[in-house]
Amino acid sequence: MSYLDDLFGLKGKIAVVTGGGRGIGQVVAEGLAKAGAEIAIISRTGADETVKNIEAAGGRAYSLRADVTKENEVDTAFADVLKRSGAVDIVFNNAGICIHKSTLEASIAEWREVIDINLTGEYIVARAAGKIMIERGIKGSIINMASMSGTIVNVPQWQASYNASKAALIHLTRSLAVEWSPYGIRVNSLSPGYIATPMSVDTPQELKDAWMPLIPNHRMGKPEELIGAVIYLASAESGYTNGSDLIVDGAYHCQ
Ligand code: NDP
Repeated sequence: MSYLDDLFGLKGKIAVVTGGGRGIGQVVAEGLAKAGAEIAIISRTGADETVKNIEAAGGRAYSLRADVTKENEVDTAFADVLKRSGAVDIVFNNAGICIHKSTLEASIAEWREVIDINLTGEYIVARAAGKIMIERGIKGSIINMASMSGTIVNVPQWQASYNASKAALIHLTRSLAVEWSPYGIRVNSLSPGYIATPMSVDTPQELKDAWMPLIPNHRMGKPEELIGAVIYLASAESGYTNGSDLIVDGAYHCQ
């Protein structure tokens, strides 16, 4: 085994990736597979392309359908993972949505939808994974997908529900890290800045033009630029990193 495999390799690990059918989840799932993990993808509409790409590259993956806001669907998906793979070592808790609307324009139903998927959904997934890890003595790693929006307030678009959901997710991460540290389970969050994915690529050009001068690196990030961060948080090398929020945003939050 090479030095880097020793530090960061995920061979023999079972990784669950929510929202791995497109965007960041797809790219990171493919990256985790290249690092050696077997991948179980959970999403509402399936992840055939991700599975095909992983298998074509010589990895192992399968897709399960579940809505992360529905506890029974998530429990069934995790039971399937146990049946097929026998363990849950890593969770990239990535499924999420964003609604750009001012607070007075957005409905309460829209607020609830964002909080339900981005916060309660990640809680339901982390809880299902934590239960398995605790019962089976698995010293796993859970990586919650937060955002720089959990730390800063984006402009010029308004997205109070998204910002609040991600700020709460960062503190949920710290809470679970402390609660589950006696079991050797680590819980960290990842907070990207603007990343070019279907969520942001469909964003009107004038909005993206307004973002550019505010990003010290003067560009959006690529999903590929998050693979290393997730592999680090998933691997043995981050054994003493717990309850942390890893910000990958081209220095946006520094201003
Ligand atoms: P995409 O819209 O490209 O992908 C979102 C994924 O989440 C899809 O695979 C979708 O699958 C899944 N998903 C959404 N709702 C649910 C649900 N209720 N149950 C199960 N799966 C669900 O988004 P991104 O890749 O851009 O974003 C991924 C994560 O990264 C999100 O949490 C987002 O907040 C975060 N993020 C994104 C940034 C960006 O600039 N793109 C910046 C910072 C953070 P399906 O519809 O099939 O269920």
